[in-house]
Amino acid sequence: MPPTAPLIVQKYGGTSVGSIERIQAVAERVKRTHDAGNHVVVVVSAMSGETDRLLALARAIQPRPSPRELDVLLATGEQVTIALLAMALESLGCPARSYTGGQVQVRTDSAHNKARIRDIDGARVRADLDAGRVVVVAGFQGIDEHGNITTLGRGGSDTSAVAMAAALAANECQIYTDVDGVYTTDPRIEPRARKLDRITFEEMLEMASLGSKVLQIRAVEFAGKYQVPLRVLSSFVEGAGTLISFEEENVEDAKIAGIAFAKDEAKLTILRVPDQPGIAHKILGPIAAANVEVDMIVQNIAADEKTTDFTFTVHRNDFAKAMEILRETAGSLGAQEVLGDEQIVKLSLVGVGMRSHAGIASRMFEALAKEGINIRMISTSEIKISVVVDERYLELGVRALHAAFGLETAA
Ligand code: ASP
Ligand code: MG
Repeated sequence: MPPTAPLIVQKYGGTSVGSIERIQAVAERVKRTHDAGNHVVVVVSAMSGETDRLLALARAIQPRPSPRELDVLLATGEQVTIALLAMALESLGCPARSYTGGQVQVRTDSAHNKARIRDIDGARVRADLDAGRVVVVAGFQGIDEHGNITTLGRGGSDTSAVAMAAALAANECQIYTDVDGVYTTDPRIEPRARKLDRITFEEMLEMASLGSKVLQIRAVEFAGKYQVPLRVLSSFVEGAGTLISFEEENVEDAKIAGIAFAKDEAKLTILRVPDQPGIAHKILGPIAAANVEVDMIVQNIAADEKTTDFTFTVHRNDFAKAMEILRETAGSLGAQEVLGDEQIVKLSLVGVGMRSHAGIASRMFEALAKEGINIRMISTSEIKISVVVDERYLELGVRALHAAFGLETAA
């Protein structure tokens, strides 16, 4: 194949390679792409359930497995898949070679179980491609400067694929998964959710970080940084999927990309703290020192003008820890009381069109008001408006916003 042929990186997740039949179906798709005149690099995950199975084995020996040895173990999941896929390709008459992350020099730092990719030496992959072969690479893994096997964190093979695409300057990185694209919201909550043909990187980052777990967020960040055109599509049904792109085309009609939500939030309030310089630092300093990430923050002026109420949200897993710290802080500051609420969710409206369109926030609040949904907190950024509401309003809130912004019909 000429070196100038387009280069496509395709990534297949665990369910897409979950059985021998599925692996054979993937091989057929890869072969079709190759036969159409493209260079193809395939990045695969472990067969579905395999990484969990390996983790359970490790934990049966060590409750907290040695991070280095865990990486040696977990990396085997992907090694099984690459070999099987290369065999399936060969048996279809499509020349292929499989490689582990270490073999193709996916170089990472030494942070076992959550390593970050530093660079990839594309030379070896290039040589195979130029010889007309499909290259199958194990996702999720790399090698550090001392030759230790590393892994990138759960869901990390998305990032492997994007990094590979960046290193090889691929024309497109296609992420095959079990959904056919990125939706305006979770279809399990709003059945009228619509698949988006395209979304910008910024919007995708907000959607991904807010709970639309289609793509690992680091993969999206990576693709944005290295300008890798990214497409999410299904390995089960045909279709063009969703293109994640740089341009903000048709901003005029596409004001809102979608509605994301986060169910695992919790809210803490400290009442009647002295309204003085340094108070936010005194409250949040100990929280940060305990490695608890704070999301939204609201500070109010209390009626007496001497004290204020201060509210913030954290991940629900950190709620107990944060409450304990806040109670101590309240004691030392002479605050009146500490309140906590775990029954909250965050709903977010996301869209680059917000930059150029006024009145989106008021439309959002009106839609929630019509349903009698009380907004407990609000925060905004350039392309996002988030509200905290009671957990029981999750479904109603998502559906009300979906309808209010006409997301069920194509823009
Ligand atoms: N096999 C790894 C996991 O299950 C990596 C991946 O699938 O992306 O998290
Ligand atoms: Mg995955």
